[in-house]
Amino acid sequence: MAPLAPEIYAVFAAESAGIDFACGPGCATCCTRSVTLTTAEGQLIVDFLHEVGFSLPELPRDPVPVRSALTSNGLAVLCLTGQEIPEEAESPWLFEPCFFLRDGLCSIYPVRPFACRSFNSTVNCRESAMAEVPEWLATLTIVTNQLLEHLDQGGSWGNLSDVLAFLDGKQGEAANIAARARLLPNLPLPGLLVMPEERPMIDRFLAKVRERTGIETMA
Ligand code: SF4
Repeated sequence: MAPLAPEIYAVFAAESAGIDFACGPGCATCCTRSVTLTTAEGQLIVDFLHEVGFSLPELPRDPVPVRSALTSNGLAVLCLTGQEIPEEAESPWLFEPCFFLRDGLCSIYPVRPFACRSFNSTVNCRESAMAEVPEWLATLTIVTNQLLEHLDQGGSWGNLSDVLAFLDGKQGEAANIAARARLLPNLPLPGLLVMPEERPMIDRFLAKVRERTGIETMA
């Protein structure tokens, strides 16, 4: 079966195509070390690097674990059941540049994970110090993250360096075990974090995903 993530990326890109984003080549403010993804998305990166004949860059070994306490669906479970969100749900933000950045450009652009595809802004965030997106797009981003996790059950989720260290056998057994310990298991979709007025937009998105992939995404 062909990987599903690129299909989901394409539907998300089509839905957000009409927005006038301020982002462009060379603007890499959001290309930090705080990128998270599923192992299915990580495998696309590893396969791409093999195809083009590159090996993985040296992966950072952080003294402080870059680990969130909750996946998107883990967070959704708490929200949907009215439970408190623990403080450690947010992982520490690492502002160092992403190790795939070369001269301000992404060196794995065709297979960059969804997190990178969803870091957009309608204002120049180098000037405003803050990204801005329409509220509906923020909701669509959360739902897309939930869906990517749901479709990679049996896989895991975590920071880019940990996911790649886990997938790459060449990092050595100790690095592989340490990376695996930092990942969280992907969870099934428990329901969507969507306001009633956003439901038609989300239903349209899910119908397009179904049309493109043939998979039943959810009711
Ligand atoms: S993977 Fe590419 S797009 Fe994503 S943060 Fe790194 S350099 Fe930027």
